[in-house]
Amino acid sequence: MTKPLLRYLLSVFLIATIVLPAVLSADDQVPTRRALLIGIDGLRADALKAAKTPHIDALIESGAFTENTQILGERYQENDTISGPGWSSFLTGVWADKHGVHDNSFTGKNYTEYPHFFHYVKVQFPQAKTHSFVDWSPIDEHIVSDADVHKVYPAHGHEEYTKQDREVTRDAVKTLREDDCHVVMAYLGAVDETGHRYGFHPSVSAYTTAIERVDAQVGLMIRAMRSRPNFDAEDWLVVISTDHGGQGLGHGGGHSIDEIRTTFLIVSGQPAKVGKIEEQTYLVDVPVTVLTHVGVKIDPEWELDGQARGLK
Ligand SMILES: [Zn+2]
Repeated sequence: MTKPLLRYLLSVFLIATIVLPAVLSADDQVPTRRALLIGIDGLRADALKAAKTPHIDALIESGAFTENTQILGERYQENDTISGPGWSSFLTGVWADKHGVHDNSFTGKNYTEYPHFFHYVKVQFPQAKTHSFVDWSPIDEHIVSDADVHKVYPAHGHEEYTKQDREVTRDAVKTLREDDCHVVMAYLGAVDETGHRYGFHPSVSAYTTAIERVDAQVGLMIRAMRSRPNFDAEDWLVVISTDHGGQGLGHGGGHSIDEIRTTFLIVSGQPAKVGKIEEQTYLVDVPVTVLTHVGVKIDPEWELDGQARGLK
């Protein structure tokens, strides 16, 4: 064999075995790890402890947990302690000076520069399947982007939210059981609405009952996730948190009220550490933890404020 021919055959071999698969491989288009993110609006950490929540307790016991989670940053606290800024921080991983949302009017929103974290999943894994189910409409209307499936179940008042939380759960369960989903976000609003109606406090039975109902819904989602035929290989992470606590019948202006501004974070599943998270945690850590788990390389140019917490 002549030398040029040998070189030619070698380069064809290298392109066919190394270069082309790296460029074209479907494996690069989807993450090998998956995540379920559950957001429970207005859930006070001490009321979570007081309520009977066997499903959430099991996730805490087998995962990482903290009650030191701050809904406001050190650098910036000008936004109100309500859902617009709260869910914006929870879903974008940046504080309100960046995402621009200071109240529920969404005036000043800047999700083009600081998008919902689904965007970064898609940047790294263009074929990843992202699903969002929410019953507080503004999340769907303003914040969600880059979702393959996004559903909204509009509601007003605690009774409608209780009903719509069941619909959110039903569709999330169906997706977790049947679809090739990589990141699933489910938002449940009835706990917050019940707090506004009857009081945010561990001694308020309507409030703890609403928390127990949500616990059952979390249980259904976890069971559906674990029933997936390929569950063991899919490496699922479960993250649960809230946007704020509450006091009396509300939670606005809660900058110096611990029951409003300090809350909890659960990071559970096989990829999670077991035990108390010792570091200080923040609402903006939620999406960064999910992104890191699914294998997204965090680019400093995205200017995310959060850090991954509770992962092995
Ligand atoms: Zn509220």
